[in-house]
Formats: sequence, structure tokens, C-alpha cells
Amino acid sequence: MRKKLLAGNWKMNKTSGELAPFFDAFAKELGAAPKCDVLFAAPFTLLQKAQELAKPRGYLIAAQNVHAEASGAFTGEVSLAMLQDVGIAASLVGHSERRQYFNETDATVAKKTKAAQAAGVMPIVCIGETLAEREAHRTEAVVGAQLDAVLEGLGNPKDLGNLVIAYEPVWAIGTGRSATSAQAQEVHAFIRKRVVAVCGADAAAKLRILYGGSANPANIVELLGQKDIDGGLVGGASLKPTDFAAMVRAAT
Ligand code: PEP
Repeated sequence: MRKKLLAGNWKMNKTSGELAPFFDAFAKELGAAPKCDVLFAAPFTLLQKAQELAKPRGYLIAAQNVHAEASGAFTGEVSLAMLQDVGIAASLVGHSERRQYFNETDATVAKKTKAAQAAGVMPIVCIGETLAEREAHRTEAVVGAQLDAVLEGLGNPKDLGNLVIAYEPVWAIGTGRSATSAQAQEVHAFIRKRVVAVCGADAAAKLRILYGGSANPANIVELLGQKDIDGGLVGGASLKPTDFAAMVRAAT
């Protein structure tokens, strides 16, 4: 049985003074301790403080990006060792905004994923098609190629370790237009089937596949009710303690 994971992606939002009020309000809204994994992907500047506040409450803190190289002349970048230095053990990899605005390719995403796994940092790898690709009936071709690049880049494809995949249709991110639960399940099932073919049934059965794209308290129950949806990657709604707490409660 895969444990559900509800992951918030704060993107380029929040400053340090907002953290304590956020976590206080979130914990209060949540009431009892969550039965699913709860994670917040925070901007680099907030990682340390967020970790201090979240860890005692049992929430995980992740980075939103990481560089594959160990060190060197990569101005503006942050390494895996730097994340681990402040206690961070997870990172988003290849979010569509990184692919769209910062030219990340399947090859760089594969490299980052491999480096993160080697370092013991949990990679949450984002894949998904654009609207034009969906309308051209290329969803499986695009998502399959993005997934293949990651799986082929791993040392031992039979052991996916702590890899998490997030299926995030680009047309659903930040648009208020979520995929329907049937659309999402169809792609999640495709992803899991592909993982079975490359990595074997055991690895595929353990792999958590999150849905992301305008998930909110109103649609999360139906999304999480699908067989191959193991949690959510949530942008806008994760900035609001009331909404995100409602989603975490729905996951338990
Ligand atoms: C995201 O940023 O990964 C995301 C899914 O955003 P939103 O929930 O706002 O669509």
C-alpha cells in the first residue's frame, strides 16, 4: 500500500516572517497529525527556517530545484550537498516552469534525478504535456519520453528508491482548469504501465505518482480516489493554510 503524499509547491512566494503564522494556522486547521506524508517545497532562502518549524510537526521540507554537479563555477545554483547541509532531503526536479523559463531539458532533468538519488535526496520529478500536445493526441508520446529519459538515466532501473513522479499537465498548472479525475487516472495508469515495462512490477507497485494542476479542496477527493493517484503536488492552494489542510485531511 503506497502512503499518500501531499506536497505543496510555494513557488516564488513567502518571506521568513510568514512561516511561523503559516505553520501555526496549518497545524490548527489540520487538528490531528496527518496520516499521509506532508511536504512543502519552499524557496531556497526559507529552507532552513521552514525546516526548523516543520520538522517537529512531522512535515517535510523540499527545495524547488537543485543542481546536478557537486560544486564549481555555476553562479546562482545550489548543490545537493548544500541542501543536505541545512537538513533538506527532497527536491522538485524538472517542474514545467523550470523547463519553460529556464530551459531545463529531459537530459538535465535525468542528470539531476540521478545525482539526487545518489546523494540520498528524494527527487520529485515533474512531467506533463502542454495543451497543444494534448490536442494533437501526443500526451502519451510526450509523457512517455520525459519518463523514459529519467528511468534510463538511473543506475539501476529495477530499484527506483525514493523516486516520486508528479504528473502535471502544463495546461492545468495555475489555470484553474484541473484535469478531470478520469483524464488524470488515464495518464497515471499509462505512467505506471511504462514503469512496469522498464523497471518491473515490484518497482512500479511501490512508485508514488502525484497529480498536479489546479488541485484544490473541491476536486482533491475525487482525484485521490483514483487507483494510480498517490497524492498531489499543489501550487496555489498550498499557500493557504485552510485550503491545504482541507486537502491533507481529504488524503487521510
Ligand atoms: C504546481 O505548481 O506544481 C501546481 C500544480 O500549481 P497549481 O496547483 O497552482 O496549478
